[in-house]
Amino acid sequence: MTNPEEATELAALLDAYRRWETAPPLTMQMGFHDAWLLMSCVQMASKHPAVSARIVALMRHAGEAIQGAVCDTPELQAIAAQGWEDLLTMEGPPPPGDPGPRLAGTGVFHGSERVRPELLEPDRPGEHVWIVTVAYRVTAETLTGPAEAYLDQESFAAMQAGCYVCEQPFEKRLTHRRCPGEPG
Ligand SMILES: [Zn+2]
Repeated sequence: MTNPEEATELAALLDAYRRWETAPPLTMQMGFHDAWLLMSCVQMASKHPAVSARIVALMRHAGEAIQGAVCDTPELQAIAAQGWEDLLTMEGPPPPGDPGPRLAGTGVFHGSERVRPELLEPDRPGEHVWIVTVAYRVTAETLTGPAEAYLDQESFAAMQAGCYVCEQPFEKRLTHRRCPGEPG
């Protein structure tokens, strides 16, 4: 529920968005250092895991406007463009001895990007590491090219809970049992 204060803020924002629809583009002056910093901040912020794909697309649109103004050499343009492409960076080939990506029984995709690997470690030996994996349908173009991935309600395909370590799907009875460790 929104309180009166929030409702007033929301009304002010909605009014602004309506006016901005038809307003001419903003003209402003900014130093090159500030502009480059701002663009880099937008790139970094857009990689935060809590930011939805749609907001990422909006952030990218705004960031690229700054990028177009600040990048005064092709080299800078390339560096800035790479900053966006890193959004969908996947790990390179696995190091020797690493079995590499595999789709396990729980649907855990090992070898994928791990933002906070410490969360995937048991707190105590023998403890299951319960996780929920979420599957989104994407295209090959999304994973290989500049196309933007919309990880939203429309592409949401599946969700499953299981142990990251032993890869057993979650069952209440397993919470009383020791985690047997990595399978096989
Ligand atoms: Zn386990």
